[in-house]
Amino acid sequence: MTVYYLNEALLGFVTPIVVFAILLALHVLIPAWKVDGYIKDDATGEPAKYRLNGLLVFIVALLVWGFELSGVPLAWLWEVKYWSILGALVLSVVVTLYYVFRESPDGKSITSSFWLGRKLHVTIFGRVEVKMYLYIIGGGVLALNALSGAAYHYNLHGANANPGILLYAAMWVFFVLDYFCFERVQLYTYDLIHEKAGFKLFFGCFVVYPYLYLIPLWGLAEYPAPDLSPFASSALLTASAVIFLAGWVISRGANLQKYTFKRWPEKKFLGIIEPQTLSNGEHRLLCSGFWGIARHANYFGEAVMAFAMALSFGHLLSPWAWVYLVFILGLFITRQIDDDELCGAKYGEAWQEYKKKTPYRIVPGVY
Ligand code: NDP
Repeated sequence: MTVYYLNEALLGFVTPIVVFAILLALHVLIPAWKVDGYIKDDATGEPAKYRLNGLLVFIVALLVWGFELSGVPLAWLWEVKYWSILGALVLSVVVTLYYVFRESPDGKSITSSFWLGRKLHVTIFGRVEVKMYLYIIGGGVLALNALSGAAYHYNLHGANANPGILLYAAMWVFFVLDYFCFERVQLYTYDLIHEKAGFKLFFGCFVVYPYLYLIPLWGLAEYPAPDLSPFASSALLTASAVIFLAGWVISRGANLQKYTFKRWPEKKFLGIIEPQTLSNGEHRLLCSGFWGIARHANYFGEAVMAFAMALSFGHLLSPWAWVYLVFILGLFITRQIDDDELCGAKYGEAWQEYKKKTPYRIVPGVY
């Protein structure tokens, strides 16, 4: 018995390392779309180069998991998750030490350098751009773990299983598919523009996205279906799906509008919304459409999606259901404050004018 647990612990511990290595191999081997990024490479002054193939890598990973092609049962990833978190945590520390302390000191304290990193754009042996690979890990393993959690739940409860858990896992798969379908848009977001390669980034992509985002399921996978009438259950599932899609329209719409503006500043978004702008003479800010209703309507849309995920379980009074929504609200509120400072420094007077014109930070009409 002890040997069995030791084996399971050890296998669980190395699982993330093996899965991340397989994803790296797929990312390197599968043909990719080569594009210029938004930020400039420090070394060359030219736009940073990216290879994008997250969608194909993700589809292959889903097939390998779904058809058990690696010989691993569907619920395995879920059953060993706590050991996997430990493995992923150790890996985050090791990788951070490598990427931070090989760079020359930048005048910041050791703890600040460890947490925030020293370099914006890092590669694996000069060949693979690390951030886009990290998001393949973060998104890909998040979706696989959600599906594996749903498989565990169905094995556990059979006929009494909660269909909301299937919907919850499907929402995560949709979320990750959407991210990979619009992978290029990611090159124009905060993480790529401002986030350096430190523990915050590695821990985020190795542990937080793939494992901790699913904390609601840690608790709720153990419960059978909620005690609701068939009508109430269907109504709740339908409402969750509709709210989720509404949140997606807002979040994806805002991100796509900014992306369209950055690449083609004069182009109307979706052929309809004229880009109205504010300028500081050097840079221009978008202040129409989604960017005219709140300064981060994209965060609002994503918070709405998180709300729908919490609803989908049907266990409305369980604190487990709300963990991700509370986390994401905290993250977005602090990130908006940071971004506000960065944009204030970059856009100067134009940013102050934008704040007057679009006073709401995240939730139109409320905050
Ligand atoms: P943004 O995509 O809003 O990027 C912020 C940057 O965009 C700013 O630093 C600035 O950069 C530029 N910008 C801001 N406002 C304007 C404007 N009005 N006009 C033109 N440029 C502007 O934020 P994030 O990168 O944080 O988020 C991107 C997406 O990722 C969002 O949908 C968010 O919800 C999602 N996300 C999800 C997380 C999750 O864990 N689920 C975590 C974090 C984000 P510059 O001026 O240099 O171009």
